[in-house]
Amino acid sequence: MVATSSSLPLKPLSAPQKAMRKIGLVRDIDLALHIPLRYEDETHIVKLQDAREGDTVQIEATVTASEIQLRPRRQLLVTVDDGTDTCMLRFFSFYPAQQKALAIGQVIRVRGEVRGGFMGLTMMHPSFKAATGELPSVLTPVYPTSAGLPQAYLRRAIGSALARADLNETLPPQLAWPSAPRGQGVHSLRQALSYLHHPTPDASIAALEDRTHPAWQRLKAEELLAQQLSQHMAKQERNTLRAPSLKRKAGGWHDRFKEALPFQLTVAQQRVGQEIAMDLARAVPMHRLLQGDVGAGKTVVAALAAMLAVDAGWQCALMAPTEILAQQHFAKLVGWLAPLGVRVAWLTGSQKKKERTEMLCLIESGEAALVVGTHAVIQEQVKFKSLALAVIDEQHRFGVAQRLALRDKMQDIGMEPHLLMMTATPIPRTLAMSYYADLEVSVIDELPPGRTPVVTKVISDSRRDEVVGRIGAQLSEGRQVYWVCPLIEESEALDLTNATATHEELSAVLPGVKVGLLHSRMSVNEKRDVMAQFTEGSMGVLVSTTVIEVGVDVPNASLMVIEHAERFGLSQLHQLRGRVGRGAAASACVLLYGTPDGGRLSETARERLRAMADTNDGFEIARRDLEIRGPGEFLGARQSGAPLLRFADLATDENLLAWARQIAPMLLEKYPDLAERHIARWLGGKSEFLKA
Ligand code: ADP
Ligand code: MG
Repeated sequence: MVATSSSLPLKPLSAPQKAMRKIGLVRDIDLALHIPLRYEDETHIVKLQDAREGDTVQIEATVTASEIQLRPRRQLLVTVDDGTDTCMLRFFSFYPAQQKALAIGQVIRVRGEVRGGFMGLTMMHPSFKAATGELPSVLTPVYPTSAGLPQAYLRRAIGSALARADLNETLPPQLAWPSAPRGQGVHSLRQALSYLHHPTPDASIAALEDRTHPAWQRLKAEELLAQQLSQHMAKQERNTLRAPSLKRKAGGWHDRFKEALPFQLTVAQQRVGQEIAMDLARAVPMHRLLQGDVGAGKTVVAALAAMLAVDAGWQCALMAPTEILAQQHFAKLVGWLAPLGVRVAWLTGSQKKKERTEMLCLIESGEAALVVGTHAVIQEQVKFKSLALAVIDEQHRFGVAQRLALRDKMQDIGMEPHLLMMTATPIPRTLAMSYYADLEVSVIDELPPGRTPVVTKVISDSRRDEVVGRIGAQLSEGRQVYWVCPLIEESEALDLTNATATHEELSAVLPGVKVGLLHSRMSVNEKRDVMAQFTEGSMGVLVSTTVIEVGVDVPNASLMVIEHAERFGLSQLHQLRGRVGRGAAASACVLLYGTPDGGRLSETARERLRAMADTNDGFEIARRDLEIRGPGEFLGARQSGAPLLRFADLATDENLLAWARQIAPMLLEKYPDLAERHIARWLGGKSEFLKA
């Protein structure tokens, strides 16, 4: 009989175990790959007479006094003496057990930052323990952790997991890891990990922190190899799947639509259109990323692809990440397609029940050839008659799970839909191609003719009045203006207060002008209302949080002011700026920056804003963004399109990526077992996700 897990008595998880699970630390290998944030040096003792103010040091001393003081607030005051000087330890919160450990006569090791002052040396809330046993010979790791998961518990758990984990090599000796400088003692994953968890005191902290140490290089190479392996496997698998072959019909919907367009397609649009058409004609699911700068005209390319599906008698779904954007797509597509007699359905979460039921019917009967909406499009209840093509706009904003759900819509007939993903936050093409080994990449590298480049100015918030003056000038010429307030990550409420205050300010200084407000807390109907007024031109100024980020198309808007521009990512700024300069009028974008406490903007921040003023080319901006933001900086995680990398950084590790890209197919072909083990080690249950 096979024992099932339910027949085994399961021990309930302790609180720290639960907390570990929550942050994904389940298997031994997960713990072994949980790398310290930083390190503390507890390997030697510093004499108090040598300790300088501001140093973080470890001392060993005897408690000579210990008392609880009640004023100005309750605190435990402990004096220690190490024979060279004394130091006062202050604790504002403490347990009785700690107080006992700090009783007079105890010899303790204390680690903390030394401060000077009127009373002599002090430490606030230092860590301490009894001075027993030898000093550690390696640096003490400090791990990223979460509530309910004490550092000490995590250290023990990682220590024993590291000893247990299967860290056998997954490359045969014939295939070498990228070469590291000699004599660094990193010849295996086990060595790399033991070093990263417990570096020796002579470690170059800089090399550890900027992740250039050979141990780091090894870890990154391993990670990138796993990523490439799973991409290659996904590609192999995809090639065994079937999709409907969608061929152009001469004189069909596609041709008639192209004929009826009010403009000429650019050469770039025609080229990517052909690339897509070639994929769609094959009976293998397309998996293509369409990159194109803001305003490059991706929507019409998507619509042409949709018409190929319709020509072949199938349906197409187009999804956008926000309701406003979906709404705009819908309006545009209906405008183009309804005159030709193509029925377009509309689906969002906020829809009235009656309308929704109608739409669901249209979709299930196949009457609607094209379905536009938010992720409501992929909900269970939505049944397509014959979905053949899914277009995902701003793909980086969609969760992988949502993309997987889309693919499920066709499983019952044993086929997969073709997938076209579109993005205006590009990563450089060569990088994209080598990273996404399982993705074809098309690029629209030219803007439609007749656009005037947007002039960008970087201006300090102290000159806000001048900027407001410029708004007046634009309005008097009949133009419209966007004013964007930053998203405050920690607090949506604060975010709102900010936008509301600016709205009031501008309403007050611009009498007789309709100033609108748009933010994420408004109902869908309210938002739609405001957008409608701005689109038709009765509203002069639109104050908004970043909800207008993508896709909004109001050609008469010629000025955009972005407040606290230093808080935005470059790609995000570029997207925002793309809202202006859509008509023939000269347009401008003002990047207002604030300086906290009247200080100066950091050099990095200044460099970033300067990059925005220097160029309007989204690819160039993406490149600079990668270059400027150092490793480990959080900014890019959302934008890089590669959130699944924990250790490697596409900006600095291109050479490792090139190596992994070369090794992966060889490993898969000649040593499939090792490849599988490597993927399981690195991606665990997550590899399914990478295929989406
Ligand atoms: P994005 O690539 O940012 O999604 P859109 O598809 O919204 O850009 O296109 C921006 C604007 O340019 C739209 O108003 C669209 O109708 C228009 N457009 C697209 N292609 C052309 C073209 N070849 N010539 C003129 N205008 C175009
Ligand atoms: Mg778009």
